[in-house]
Amino acid sequence: MSGGKLLIDLDALARNYARLRQAAAPARCAAVVKANAYGLGVVPVARRLLAEGCRDFFVACAAEGLELRAAIPESAIYVFNGPTAGGESEFVEASLIPVLNTLEQVRAWAMTGRPAALNVDTGMTRLGLSAADVDALAADAELLGALSIVYLMTHLACADEPSREMNAEQLRRFGVLHAKLPAAKTSIGNSAASLIGGRWCGDLVRLGIALYGGNPFVARAAPIEPVATLLGRVIQLRDIAEPSTVGYGATYEIQPPARVALLGVGYADGYPRSLGNVGIASVGGVRVPVVGRVSMDSLCLDVSALGSDDIEVGQWVELFGAEIGIDELAEAAGTISYELLTGLGSRIEREYVGGA
Ligand SMILES: *Cc1c(COP(=O)(O)O)cnc(C)c1O
Repeated sequence: MSGGKLLIDLDALARNYARLRQAAAPARCAAVVKANAYGLGVVPVARRLLAEGCRDFFVACAAEGLELRAAIPESAIYVFNGPTAGGESEFVEASLIPVLNTLEQVRAWAMTGRPAALNVDTGMTRLGLSAADVDALAADAELLGALSIVYLMTHLACADEPSREMNAEQLRRFGVLHAKLPAAKTSIGNSAASLIGGRWCGDLVRLGIALYGGNPFVARAAPIEPVATLLGRVIQLRDIAEPSTVGYGATYEIQPPARVALLGVGYADGYPRSLGNVGIASVGGVRVPVVGRVSMDSLCLDVSALGSDDIEVGQWVELFGAEIGIDELAEAAGTISYELLTGLGSRIEREYVGGA
């Protein structure tokens, strides 16, 4: 039996998809399932979203696209990174739609005669054609004529903070670049955009973290519910009979009478080491602190506040989920829900609840 388990509620995923779809309407909603669907398992997640009517999926790289294509023979699969030089045929064979980010990619892809999304950089300084690249493309009638653009895309740097001026500035820049290119549908925002309004979405909004239960905003609530629950198994209970210290570095002093529960989840499983003496877990609705440093394969909880019958070896304890919010735990760890979810290791068993 493993020491850690991730429960994934596919019905909750479906409800989040429905809520975001309603908020984003009339924009079409694509699911971003890169990084193994943010750690939740790309095949079960994509199959369920497909059953809910989703027909557009985004992954980061070709390998992820091929894995997804093997599981879902139909539907559009877009690949954010686009092909590497010479990798075009792999895309064509698996019917993957590249997101083109450079003029080199545009030229190589145009030879295939297949549709593509075209990404323009409006302020991320990450993937996408620069304004100068767009001018060069706009001036090349032959290349433009060979290219079939299904979506003109960009990505917002500050959608998680809707009041930032940067958002409006990026939309303005996007409008300028769009006007230089042939008419195409647009794909602009992410999860946060779907909840703040149409012009931030474009025609196709790209939903990631909010599908999976993470709040896409820095400082406002979102109408979504938890999807993933991380559980750690109690592998040992120790009654503290004399003053002791807990874990590496002896960073936590504990006085008797006290009780410590050891869980079989550590930083090798993606439970952040930064949660040593800071993290919190829930045992039957009672919040108990992580004490001492997080080890590679285990962590300690001070469970002295619980009755002696309230916890036993073999029991599963919630590390995040309905009681300990994933955003709350991520913040305590000095990170974001995205990193917490995608960092969960392969030793963590994935278990699916709800209809597949
Ligand atoms: C990961 C990603 C998304 C999804 O973002 P969320 O904040 O998880 O909704 C959308 N667009 C691009 C370009 C991405 O890289």
